[in-house]
Amino acid sequence: MAKIPHILLIYTGGTIGMVKDFKTGVLKTFNFNKLIKHIPEINHLNCTTDSISFEEPIDSSNMNVSKWISIATIIEENYNLFDGFVVLHGSDTMSFTASAISFMFENLSKPIIFTGSQLPIGDLRTDAKENLITSIEIASAQENGKPIVQEVCLYFEYKLYRGNRTTKVNAEHFNAFTSPNFLPLCESGVHLKFNKSLFFKNSTTKQLQVRKKLDNNIVILKIFPGITKEIVKSMLEIKGLKGVVLETYGSGNAPNEAWFINLLKGAVSKGIQIINVTQCIGGNVIMGQYETSIELNKIGIISGNDITTESALAKLMYMLGEKIPKKDFKSIFTTSLRGEISN
Ligand code: ASP
Repeated sequence: MAKIPHILLIYTGGTIGMVKDFKTGVLKTFNFNKLIKHIPEINHLNCTTDSISFEEPIDSSNMNVSKWISIATIIEENYNLFDGFVVLHGSDTMSFTASAISFMFENLSKPIIFTGSQLPIGDLRTDAKENLITSIEIASAQENGKPIVQEVCLYFEYKLYRGNRTTKVNAEHFNAFTSPNFLPLCESGVHLKFNKSLFFKNSTTKQLQVRKKLDNNIVILKIFPGITKEIVKSMLEIKGLKGVVLETYGSGNAPNEAWFINLLKGAVSKGIQIINVTQCIGGNVIMGQYETSIELNKIGIISGNDITTESALAKLMYMLGEKIPKKDFKSIFTTSLRGEISN
């Protein structure tokens, strides 16, 4: 008889486990074991679960690199003991964390599913129960004794997305996330419909490698009409700066005024890696399509193609942390490592 999957729930915080302070009306984090008591349905799933909670659960606005490493370490230390992992996380920065964790786990052969909710689990109209229960079901789904999903995903409101393709787009709707350039990996209706042809093809014969050296000496530089030379200059001259996610217009366009191009050129020549991503919610960067992006291409700015800002930021931290040589940086950044960018 097939072994019943064993799933680890990792509670980091977020609305899902918050309670209302009735005096102030403010949402605050809560004890995870008490949270689990609100969902007796978990005991009826075809899996066994165990849980680990952050000692001090956080609102995901307080997420940072060392907390990403804590999540990765919990998964690494429990990797051989469990068949899948469900990470409960605040929705605000969930796409950043899911992206970072995807780069940190190379040769992953088990599911890591991020989920959360817009309303706390104790709320009558909560979306937390469905999100959590279906995430656990997906994490425990197996075929021939092997997990069906073997990558880092984000589950929210009936859809399973590749984590590093997602972005939070709504602070009100239950349908808070989208994956603008990549179709969902699974849709949850009466049945779970897996879109297997989209799954990340992993070399499962290779050993899992957990990469925990992230370098956060980077900035996101979002251009806007009226941006001044002083602003761009001061950002590019930050001491120790190693990378920039340059958020441009449309298909990767930016001012082609000399001062702007020269500042970027100077940064590139100092060895700062600059990635061009679009401010648009969907679509991709095509440097050279317009006159306003030809120069960017010429001075050595790297095209982020259809990567999200969240994923570009995580990939940059990961590649800088791994000290990828300058000569290989562009070719590796533009290659899909975990399915985050289209080739
Ligand atoms: N502020 C919360 C957080 O990200 C929102 C949520 O959980 O959805 O932690």
